[in-house]
Amino acid sequence: MMQNFRQIPLVAHSCQMEKWFLAGNEYKVQVTHGKPIDILTVKKNTIEDFAHSVHKKKESVKLWLNTENLEKVELCPLCKTGTDSASEVVKIHGQPYYQCTKCSHCFLLRRLSKNKLEEYFKHDEYYRATYTDNKIIQARVNQVSVPKLEWVLKEFGRIYHRRPEAILDVGAGAGHFVYACRKRGISADGIEISQQGIEFCRNNFGIELMNKDFLSDSGEFNDSDYDVVTFWGVLECVPYPQEMIKAAYRVLSKKKGMVIVEVPRWNSFSTAIQKTFPDSVVRHLDPIGHIQIFTDFSLSGCFRKNGFDIVAAWYFGMDIYELVSQTSFALQNNETREILKRVINSLQEQLDAGKLSDEMIFAGVAKSQANETF
Ligand SMILES: [Zn+2]
Repeated sequence: MMQNFRQIPLVAHSCQMEKWFLAGNEYKVQVTHGKPIDILTVKKNTIEDFAHSVHKKKESVKLWLNTENLEKVELCPLCKTGTDSASEVVKIHGQPYYQCTKCSHCFLLRRLSKNKLEEYFKHDEYYRATYTDNKIIQARVNQVSVPKLEWVLKEFGRIYHRRPEAILDVGAGAGHFVYACRKRGISADGIEISQQGIEFCRNNFGIELMNKDFLSDSGEFNDSDYDVVTFWGVLECVPYPQEMIKAAYRVLSKKKGMVIVEVPRWNSFSTAIQKTFPDSVVRHLDPIGHIQIFTDFSLSGCFRKNGFDIVAAWYFGMDIYELVSQTSFALQNNETREILKRVINSLQEQLDAGKLSDEMIFAGVAKSQANETF
């Protein structure tokens, strides 16, 4: 069996060059650790808010995850190994996540069928609940979308010595990233299946997102100017993540463009916390929407298999926020929260440097030919 490993400096830096060895290939990967964020401005703040979110999540689990709506996953969504040989790694709200023995990818064994999943995202209260306040909208753009755009521009410039011509954001949500790009003077468009997301974007940013399905409509973009395709928090929500990367390759391969993928990360402190508090999970291992949970190995394997060389990775997360939320909720004590919230960023910085973050972004460049092995 091929050995897969990485060489890292003994002293971690916020930005460092690493060598990753995957299936006999060597990759030079520019790795960034940490992303300071004023988490309490963009997230709700008290035990009462968190308790409300837990209550809503439990209601949704009850409403959506019934035998009629669920289908069993028979093959690993990435390497297509039969799930009979996969093992259960955690149960969240009673729903088992399994891990593939071959590629280490984690996934919900019983998930909403494709149609039900789309229905769920189309009717989700997410947009109404999270982003109604204009101050929060601007905070999200400045603290979440702008730093990501800066990172994309930095990595794209490092590889290609120029700015991207045009960016296509797949699963654009409420359009924050597309708005951040255009504000920066970069041509950008977004695809979104949720009508609520499209309306939100139109009303708040004056931008018209395209109501398309990237898998079935991606052919339209093959001869476009897009030289960056981004998936911010999308691949964990779709039944066929590998096919999405393959479709991005078809859009980018002629231009030697860049794909950007942000997903929740299995090998993280948040995963450990949620294993301890499986019945009050509202984010990260969300058993309704997050049907795929990637490992560094499974995501980089998905890149390699579909024609992308990994060139950069960014690790950051909300693990300490998760710790604060879950322990305060379990203890029903707002004081714990008050003490811990002062140190959220410094604790998270240490976790990120140790690669225990619950979120990762990978950047890959399109090779001239895809390599079909995992
Ligand atoms: Zn697999």
